[in-house]
Amino acid sequence: MSSATTYESTSSGHMCDMDRCVERTSLSIRNFGRRFYGCQHWSPACKFFKWLDKNTCPCGRATASLVHERFTRYKAEVAAARNEREEAHAMEAEAREREKIAKRKAEKTKLTLRIAKDKVYRYRLAFLLSWTVVGVYFVFSTIFGGHGHMQLCLP
Ligand SMILES: [Zn+2]
Repeated sequence: MSSATTYESTSSGHMCDMDRCVERTSLSIRNFGRRFYGCQHWSPACKFFKWLDKNTCPCGRATASLVHERFTRYKAEVAAARNEREEAHAMEAEAREREKIAKRKAEKTKLTLRIAKDKVYRYRLAFLLSWTVVGVYFVFSTIFGGHGHMQLCLP
């Protein structure tokens, strides 16, 4: 800020050699809204500042406490809303994770069921085949009589 630097060059009493002041607005209740120039590197080592405005009027001071109160309340409300949002996000993530697990379980169950069905199908086929072989054996043994026993050689 060039105007600040100009101001600094003409003023005396600045304790540090940073040679930089910035214009700020006081938020303290006593001097609420009052403009001032202050060292940019404001610290316990350099507390240089100079008021630009006159004292805050009594009405301004009365308003300041109200503004502070309201500001504090809004800040708390914002924090609470943020907490709620974070909680909601966490719950959503948890629900999504649970859904994923349930889906995986359902897929596993489906696969197990398919395997079981395949097994049943294979057993049925084997059962049918064995009865067919038995049937064929009976037919052959009926046609060829007693010799059927001797001639038929199953694998
Ligand atoms: Zn300074």
